[in-house]
Amino acid sequence: MSTGTASSPSASTSKEFNPFEAMAERFNVAADHLGLDQGLRDVLRTPDRELTVAIPIKMDDGTMRVFTGYRVQHNFSRGPCKGGIRFAPDVNLDEVRALAAWMTWKCAVVDLPFGGGKGGVICNPAELSQGELERITRRYTSGILDILGPDRDVPAPDVNTNEQTMAWLMDTYSMHVRRTTTAVVTGKPIALGGSKGRTEATGRGVMITAREALKKLGMRQEGTTVVVQGSGNVGGIGARLMQAQGHRILSISDMFGAIHNENGLDMPDVLAYLKANKKLNGYPKAKAITPAQQLEIPCDVLVPAATENQITSANAAKVRAKVIVEGANGPTTAEADKILEKNGILVVPDILANAGGVTVSYFEWVQDRAGFFWTEEEVNTRLEQIMVDSFKSVDAMATQHKTSMRIGAYIVAVGRVAAVYKLRGTYA
Ligand code: NAD
Repeated sequence: MSTGTASSPSASTSKEFNPFEAMAERFNVAADHLGLDQGLRDVLRTPDRELTVAIPIKMDDGTMRVFTGYRVQHNFSRGPCKGGIRFAPDVNLDEVRALAAWMTWKCAVVDLPFGGGKGGVICNPAELSQGELERITRRYTSGILDILGPDRDVPAPDVNTNEQTMAWLMDTYSMHVRRTTTAVVTGKPIALGGSKGRTEATGRGVMITAREALKKLGMRQEGTTVVVQGSGNVGGIGARLMQAQGHRILSISDMFGAIHNENGLDMPDVLAYLKANKKLNGYPKAKAITPAQQLEIPCDVLVPAATENQITSANAAKVRAKVIVEGANGPTTAEADKILEKNGILVVPDILANAGGVTVSYFEWVQDRAGFFWTEEEVNTRLEQIMVDSFKSVDAMATQHKTSMRIGAYIVAVGRVAAVYKLRGTYA
């Protein structure tokens, strides 16, 4: 089994793979459809605030190291900023900026009263102890504390951060402000004010939007064939929920490779194997295939749920799915979009398809502020309603403007933020 990414975007510096360019290209098309003037375009593209902080840490061996952290608040006109914090060696300001803008549009597509933000720390968690990770999280939190708060900016987990990271962040913030403030962060453990249904929310949203896309195309739901790239929170849970709904999961992958069984994979069994063995490689009831082969499997629904820039100008023409439901953020480049559209493949865009996670984060924030917690059934019912309504608004907008669902989603989102700007006016 070969390793590596499906498309190996070696020219990661090229325009096609630059996340800010990818966001800006879609934004510009939506702005054209909306007839926005240049001034408003500039306002909406420019991050409201960017903070870079030094994070000096005493390492376990007694030496000092200084890490760098960022928090970008792209836009807070519709409410507090919302967006994850990632810990990774390749974090950079351009990427954080793009992801923050993506969050603005994502929150607006599902009509949450939030703006967009994103944070990151340049570090390699695989080389750090729990103690070092805790000290980084706490010092980073104190560095950005002045711009955080339930009414200002509410972070969440992202790549290599988790419930424990959010618990440390919540505790650090609470110690500074001298009161327990659970609503400063989402994705917390349930014992600290987390929401039921949060862990499954993004996968559930993917399942719901896939179902709506099949309905739109008049395709059957039972026996629908599905290929999933990535088997983590989004891909693994999404695949399990889709199988429970009657779909046939033909293939799933992780960063080490992909597995394939034309008769369908038993997802609970696959996920139990993954948990025990840490990789899918060697799963006995399927054959190993390469990441590139996986994306070329004929299927009804392809769910890229791993990482960005996986469907590119180099491989888009080989995709043989009828629908792509983007579980990951930015899995399809703008160049690839054009090829998919030409080939009649319906793409349910990331800012809609994976918005289930931020939607239940919003529910978590609401529950923390009210001090009143919902059952899992209430969470799932409200999530279902928001995802279905959002799918319909995006689809209607795409039809009205005779454009793709991606551009339809951007028109909905950019239009909502622009409308708020016009109503509020410019403070000077
Ligand atoms: P995760 O860390 O739980 O899982 C990622 C999975 O992708 C793992 O199975 C990993 O092995 C696999 N992977 C990584 N690189 C790969 C590659 N090149 N090819 C195939 N598989 C690869 O992460 P996650 O939370 O599932 O997030 C996945 C994507 O979804 C990211 O783009 C993330 O930003 C996005 N997303 C996540 C959420 C959420 O709530 N977790 C919400 C919205 C968007």
